[in-house]
Amino acid sequence: VDDFNVKNEPVYQYLKGSRERVELEKALKDTAAKTEDIPIVIGDKEYKTNDVRYQVMPHDHKKKLAKFYYADTKLINKAIDVAVETQKKWDRVPIPERLKIWEKAASLMAGKYRQTLNAATMLGQAKTIIQAEIDSAAELVDFFRLNAYFLKEATKYQPISEDPKVTKNTMRYRGIDGFIAAVSPFNFTAIGGNLAYTPALMGNAVLWKPSDTAMLSNWNIFKICREAGVPPGVVNFIPADGPVFGDAITASKYLAGINFTGSVPTFTRLWTQVGQNINKYINFPRLIGECGGKNYHFVHPSADVETVVNGTIRSAFEFCGQKCSACSRMYVPESLWGKVKKSLLEKRSQLKIGDPTDYKSFTSAVIDDKAFKRIKSYIDHAKSSPNLEVIGGGKCDDSTGYFIEPTIVEAKDPKDKIMVEEIFGPVLTVYVYKDADLDKTLELVGNSTAFALTGAVFAQDKKFLERAIDELKMTAGNFYINDKSTGSVVGQQPFGGARLSGTNDKAGGPHYVLRWGNPQAVKETF
Ligand code: GLU
Repeated sequence: VDDFNVKNEPVYQYLKGSRERVELEKALKDTAAKTEDIPIVIGDKEYKTNDVRYQVMPHDHKKKLAKFYYADTKLINKAIDVAVETQKKWDRVPIPERLKIWEKAASLMAGKYRQTLNAATMLGQAKTIIQAEIDSAAELVDFFRLNAYFLKEATKYQPISEDPKVTKNTMRYRGIDGFIAAVSPFNFTAIGGNLAYTPALMGNAVLWKPSDTAMLSNWNIFKICREAGVPPGVVNFIPADGPVFGDAITASKYLAGINFTGSVPTFTRLWTQVGQNINKYINFPRLIGECGGKNYHFVHPSADVETVVNGTIRSAFEFCGQKCSACSRMYVPESLWGKVKKSLLEKRSQLKIGDPTDYKSFTSAVIDDKAFKRIKSYIDHAKSSPNLEVIGGGKCDDSTGYFIEPTIVEAKDPKDKIMVEEIFGPVLTVYVYKDADLDKTLELVGNSTAFALTGAVFAQDKKFLERAIDELKMTAGNFYINDKSTGSVVGQQPFGGARLSGTNDKAGGPHYVLRWGNPQAVKETF
């Protein structure tokens, strides 16, 4: 544990003939060949109910990747009982022992199971190898390694004891009695790992409800952690209908916290239910949520066009814009628009969209039918609205997979819903402003949406940058200067935003694990 590697896990290149590429191809073949049967796991017992569900491949939706079962209220309540009992024992396991388990899990993820995780993420969530590698390999490993490191560092702090012969003051870092519910999204395999396992690292017991559309990759994480030595009952694997799960956990007096990444309406619903039940609980439940964004790229007349265009193509369209951090609104000055537009359209038309396992694909399908319909409705809105013009892409085809072309829309009205609401798909809307209206447009960045997750400013004018840093400070929890708004790295850019983007508890930052702690200060008098 002392020689913990606190460096970020490297991202592999998958060059032709490389060992990782050979291993990946084998894992892809094995994963695609079967429909994995995934049980509900509570303590050391597996359960299957009659409520059978399937995870399909988004790029080829006739293919079933996994079969799983929804837990009903009775099973969720059983999981709560098991978690509450397990927490009492787990919290007594000394932190150095827990750190060793996390280190072991990280090395299994980085090594033996790297390609199993990548294959499940590629086929199940339609990520290309590079997008899978930065998620289910690098970021996942980083969450396990770095949170363990952050916990170890934090526990080094001990309070002042003025005369240790008379009194000794200590701090014990513990979990919270009760259970934590982790509700995780499809878009990052690593986020599931972080939401379920970081509270567990701190000594909590967890009910993990993975996303239906990330089931296989999340199940792999669960199995790896068991192999690494996370005892049964510390994390319980509970696929379930969202509202059924939400109702059950918020009705239990033992609810100690919710660790959530997903939509604003779902987080709001959970928060409301917690409020309604507040007199029932033995703790004030901790609510940590990350709920999306409407992220901007603001271009100043002094910006370098190539930097702007390369960054925007990647931020708006990588993984079909299905990152909470993806750029979906862009402000460009009239003086640069000609060049930016030409280059954006050219680069957009060169993007290859297809099978995620094809190394030439830039993106693949969007996650499911629901997402397809939602994103298409915004594109249809753009096609039919006189204030909007689709200048690139716009094709949607769900005949074999949920494919939507990277789409660029030009907006005359910067407050049109397409520039205000989160779309969570490959749709970029550009508002071209008059250079003389720079001040007004800068104000628009902050006051036209309710979100504040990520944002980027492109400029070479240093004076303007200073001004932007100051004026836009409330508009983004993750702010980028001359770089795209996506791609935060654990330990490098702790991630999260305020306003409706969430509670800004900074996943991948040094304090995240401590948010799950229930420390005890002990004064011993001799
Ligand atoms: N951390 C990721 C990024 O910066 C986004 C995470 C998310 O989509 O929730 O790209």
